[in-house]
Amino acid sequence: MEKRKLTRSEYIKIKKRRQQKRKILRAGVYTVYYGFWTILIALIFYFSYSFITSKFKKDSTSIGSKNKDIVMYNYDSYDTDNTVVASTTNDASNKNTSVSPNVTDNKPRKQDFVDDGKLIVCIDAGHGGKDIGCNSKKRNEKNDTLKIALEVQKYLKSKKVKVILTRSNDYFISLQKRVDICSEKKCDYFISIHRNCGNGSGYETWTSSDANEESKYLANSIHSGLVDIGISKDRGVKSGSQKSSKEDYFVLRNTTTPACLLELGFLNNYNDNKYFDSNKKKYSKAIGDAIIDTYNQYHEKK
Ligand SMILES: [Zn+2]
Repeated sequence: MEKRKLTRSEYIKIKKRRQQKRKILRAGVYTVYYGFWTILIALIFYFSYSFITSKFKKDSTSIGSKNKDIVMYNYDSYDTDNTVVASTTNDASNKNTSVSPNVTDNKPRKQDFVDDGKLIVCIDAGHGGKDIGCNSKKRNEKNDTLKIALEVQKYLKSKKVKVILTRSNDYFISLQKRVDICSEKKCDYFISIHRNCGNGSGYETWTSSDANEESKYLANSIHSGLVDIGISKDRGVKSGSQKSSKEDYFVLRNTTTPACLLELGFLNNYNDNKYFDSNKKKYSKAIGDAIIDTYNQYHEKK
């Protein structure tokens, strides 16, 4: 078929149409290109802003290290030692990420005491998992607290006392879960074990600012038991927290049973570590004896 030659006006028309098409195409490409960069920059700003604000918020509200591990408990699993063991799992529904020994505001609370004539003690090894607590030269607080907790359990078990451990191994537990374990297992006492960090030395024992007589007796008995064995320096029995005498540690404020928190020496102090390492068994026995003594003072044997 023979091709018809285009007239000049037709040629100009086609050329104009092509130019128009190219213009539209170029405009489309520019829109997509600049749109993409605008959205990307906006997203970068947004995420940087939320990261900075969340970090700032966290730094200003928590004392300890920062952790997002979540734990669920299998309350039905008792081992042969009469000790409840907790099992870890990931659960995005649990949002409690605070780390011990966090403080809390002092609202009035109710103290319920279960007196069934059988002593049940909740021993809380501070920290765990990614929350190492204090640390100094590869020594982590979470390991020291667990060692004592297991020793206390062993001693109390030999005295036929039932022990509930908030953790029996190295995993993270929220503060709320520790408190929940104590109340769900109807424990008579809650003893939280920690080691200090900072520039000081010596042992101290904490109670909540509204501790009742039994709580105070328990704290004083344990503390004097430790002093009798030997400690580098007696920092005394105190109420509130290191932050303020009016702000209690979370676990002391939120447990409904008599409770105390032990700071067994400074982890970065050579002398304190020496005392701690050479007296673990004796300290554990003293803690156990003080618990039993307090129970005998305040509860009738059935
Ligand atoms: Zn601690």
